[in-house]
Amino acid sequence: MTELQAPKNKLEKHAINVHKFGGSSLANAQCIERVLEIIRQNCQLNDIVVVSANGKTTDYLFSLLNLAEDGDFTESIAELQAQQSTLISEILNEKNAKQLTQLLLKDIVQLTQWLSSDFIHHRNDILAFGELWSARLLSALLNEKICPSNAIDARDFLVIDNEQSCTVDHALSSAQLKTHLQFGKLAVITGYISQDTRGITCTLGRNGSDYSATIMASLVGAFNVTLWTDVDGIYSADPRVVPNARKLHRLPNGVAKELGRLGNPVLHAKTLTPLVNESLSHHCHLHVASSFDPQVQGTEIGKFGHIAKQELSVTYLNDLLLAQSASFIGDKAAQVLKEFSPICADIQQGFVVINQSQQKALSQWLA
Ligand code: ASP
Ligand code: MG
Repeated sequence: MTELQAPKNKLEKHAINVHKFGGSSLANAQCIERVLEIIRQNCQLNDIVVVSANGKTTDYLFSLLNLAEDGDFTESIAELQAQQSTLISEILNEKNAKQLTQLLLKDIVQLTQWLSSDFIHHRNDILAFGELWSARLLSALLNEKICPSNAIDARDFLVIDNEQSCTVDHALSSAQLKTHLQFGKLAVITGYISQDTRGITCTLGRNGSDYSATIMASLVGAFNVTLWTDVDGIYSADPRVVPNARKLHRLPNGVAKELGRLGNPVLHAKTLTPLVNESLSHHCHLHVASSFDPQVQGTEIGKFGHIAKQELSVTYLNDLLLAQSASFIGDKAAQVLKEFSPICADIQQGFVVINQSQQKALSQWLA
């Protein structure tokens, strides 16, 4: 009898997952082949793939903007065009390569025009080319080798208020995204870019594609986001600084957020915000995994019942100062906490940790 009962939540059964690939994971033909294999093994047709610009393309576009101020960017544009067309012809078959090269040519004409006439006004349109090219290329390659796919420009559906706060118009963006998702095709969506309420191109800030990925997840109610990157997880300390740092396999949202706040390079505090929607009681888990080592277990961030002690972690900031004084104990501590917002404090023992830049002010306060 039980087999005949419908599952409690059908959505859960058909849950969409979001997979985001960073720039270094898409840097060259070999990397892109690796990504293709990851998609083949881990994605379903109704999942969403979010991409960053290939390799250092965004840095390159920024340098073109700088060059535009002095007016001499012709050589650099030619170099960028060559980089992109090499990538296209290395990985696509002749017919598809021809088609994409033609589209690229049109974009280069537009880019040149913007840089020569109105690069201040079109700054974000110029920066958007990186993600646009990357999504177009991966989608064409998927079509050729793996499954039907369509490339989607996030500016066609994702609306934010402005670049400073990057607050998403959830209802509008979600409704618009649904009109672009095509049944039976794997969507490849540009990270990093969006539009504001006036329809003007906005970016979500440097390295903003992770945030794009978790926004997309919240728009479609996904249960999992995987950030495929060039590190294989989040560690208890920076492994380059602390040799015996351990990888954290599971991190609760709150701890991850705190790590982001304290400057963990893999976790941007903003990225984590769309993962929890209390009003919809929707919780999405975030995975960090390496596209260079996809078999290795990465880190999972989400809502876990309890956390084992050994999973606690540290991050590091340079230029910190540990100060001890009887003035940091008990009632008097309230004042120092208010005035200096220390990174952390132990008001039983009278310890505070502050930034070195606050040293003088703290000494004066103590005096
Ligand atoms: N391509 C953009 C950047 O380099 C966004 C990203 O990579 O997340 O900042
Ligand atoms: Mg990047």
